[in-house]
Amino acid sequence: MKPNTLFLRLEGPLQSWGDHQSEFVIRRTAEAPTKSGVAGIICAAKGLTREQSPRLLEKISRLAMAVRIDRPGVRWWDFHIVGGGKQMRKASGGIRKDAIISLREYLCNASFLVVLQGDNDLIEDFEIALRKPRWQLYLGRKSCVPSSPILDGQADLFETLEDALRSKPLRWTEEFGNGNKPQRLGCIIEWRATPQEPQMPQDAEIWYDTPVSFKPPAHAPRVVIRKSINVGKGGVPVEILKATRIPERQRTSHADYANSKYKKVREKRLDLDRRLCVFCKSPATTVQHVTYRRAGGEEELQDLRSLCRLCHDAVTMVEYGLSLGIDRINPEDEQWREMILAKRDEIIRFRSIQMRRRLLGREEEGF
Ligand SMILES: [Zn+2]
Repeated sequence: MKPNTLFLRLEGPLQSWGDHQSEFVIRRTAEAPTKSGVAGIICAAKGLTREQSPRLLEKISRLAMAVRIDRPGVRWWDFHIVGGGKQMRKASGGIRKDAIISLREYLCNASFLVVLQGDNDLIEDFEIALRKPRWQLYLGRKSCVPSSPILDGQADLFETLEDALRSKPLRWTEEFGNGNKPQRLGCIIEWRATPQEPQMPQDAEIWYDTPVSFKPPAHAPRVVIRKSINVGKGGVPVEILKATRIPERQRTSHADYANSKYKKVREKRLDLDRRLCVFCKSPATTVQHVTYRRAGGEEELQDLRSLCRLCHDAVTMVEYGLSLGIDRINPEDEQWREMILAKRDEIIRFRSIQMRRRLLGREEEGF
């Protein structure tokens, strides 16, 4: 049997997957590659202009698509000014004096595995085109350059989109380490009615991103479902994991701590903050990580802040409530001030109640 499944790796410093609402001043990105964005990549690989593409778009829409979110990335805004202070020609022939301002949103440092599945001849045709693209391929916008080849391995034969998503090992990343631990990854999978499942699932979503035409832009709906799958040990064959294994980073053991680099950085940070809490200026008793990017022994001075116990607990509680990722709260940052103050009050109130109870209990016991 000929392959029916194509794998694309969409990874780079920036990507932006505009949806049908993104033609105006504020251009947002979807959380993951859209079908029209992926169709754009294939059209570029085949060297088709927007006007030439409708017939191919019809074929692409027949393929089913799924996305595995290996790394969701961080949302990032670009405040974009065109023609500030310059006199620009307008289409009508006049002169435009004011600048055009637009806000463009990007996903920073994201990585997606995209699977296309369907007609064998079409898959073969697209694989050939992507191996030797006619035009430059980009991740949603021309300024978004991919950091690895878009074609991820050879086309293959799979029964379902999910099987295909499971078959690819996880790449090494800062967050996941060497792929030893299985990871649960979010997936966005196109849903189609089958004899086994004729009814659309309750939690299905409608995405208006199936391209009908690029000029003028027109999109048809498709049904997608969200699912998380296990990848890593148990999720993919062990041989693949061995091949991609990278030595684990040395962890600082407790015994090593006294002379460790971390202890030195921690002491330096306390000195820098004059051994005072950066939030309330009480004596500092601890340091707080404002980022975990280098946590585990590689910390740098700017990763830490000195705090008193009360402010430390308050900041930790605020962080807990927000379920933050790798970057934590910087207690010196104005935006957290009110939240930290509120949590401090909460802790003080709670502790004084506890203290009163303890004292009252002692009285009752005859102390
Ligand atoms: Zn404090």
